[in-house]
Amino acid sequence: MSSTLEIMSELQPANNATAKSGQQSGTCLICGSNELGELLVAPDRFHLRRQMYRLVRCENCSGVWLASPPQPAEMGDHYTADYHNAIVTAGEGSAASRWKDQVKLISQYKSGGALLDIGCSSGGFLSTVKGSVWKLYGIEMEESTAQRARATTGAEVFVGDAVAAPFLPASFDVITCFDVLEHVYSPREFLTKVREWLKPGGIYYAMMPNIDSWEARLFGSHWFGLELPRHLGHFSPRSLRYLMNELGFEEVCVKTPAVSYIERSAGYVGSSLLEKLGFSPTPQSRPKPRGVLQRIVRKGLRMTVIQPIAYIASIAGAGPCVEVVFRKPESR
Ligand SMILES: [Zn+2]
Repeated sequence: MSSTLEIMSELQPANNATAKSGQQSGTCLICGSNELGELLVAPDRFHLRRQMYRLVRCENCSGVWLASPPQPAEMGDHYTADYHNAIVTAGEGSAASRWKDQVKLISQYKSGGALLDIGCSSGGFLSTVKGSVWKLYGIEMEESTAQRARATTGAEVFVGDAVAAPFLPASFDVITCFDVLEHVYSPREFLTKVREWLKPGGIYYAMMPNIDSWEARLFGSHWFGLELPRHLGHFSPRSLRYLMNELGFEEVCVKTPAVSYIERSAGYVGSSLLEKLGFSPTPQSRPKPRGVLQRIVRKGLRMTVIQPIAYIASIAGAGPCVEVVFRKPESR
């Protein structure tokens, strides 16, 4: 390992004990308003657990977050091995096509330099830019997953809480965050670090669920994007713009791509129905292999129903995930 990584490993015990203010004090994590309303109550449907969690919504900026979230020390119970397997499988599965659109979007604004992927998992995204004009870095919570990322991409990967990573100011041309911001206790503190680490003119790319999407409204407490209690904050184009503008970023691109969580959300609805009827459904954390007939029906539904809906929602800016690019100003 390089000397940079040796320095990093000494700093790993630093934790995010400071990152809890908003949830505790009943003020909005994004704008600080105390005009809060109840949004919904739901359990961890991924593991099919019983404990209920409450989401509150800020009337001022539309930010949504988890009231009384688990303490950081308790989060290990919620980030299970099944959860990590699901993330790693999703990130690595046909990596080149999985990340094609994201790589294309980023390359419109930056063509090389130092790239940091926060929440890099086993390096699914980093592997698609490896060996090109990028010097790669990552941040990952789990050591064995980070080792896979290092081995497959050659990236320098810091293990631990992102805000504790010892990167110097103005280090990166690009910082990417795939499905990360919603897991962070203090988005404001996290994004302040991102801004500090970016070079002037550097870009921040992020993707996360869109709490103002059609699917979120349709499925309510059964929406797949809720991921309780691992998702602590829930964003929309509106609340993200508010936050990024406040922190001094310039908007480059805000859109909702043509993807869909309909199948996963419908699975949660099906599980609830089965439980009400006295059955014990299989949790999505332990998926069963699909049969041939199931795969044919699924493909048919995707082509005829789900993809057209996803396309229309995307055009309307109401897709289930929001994808953004913001720039750190050249001088401020
Ligand atoms: Zn707010």
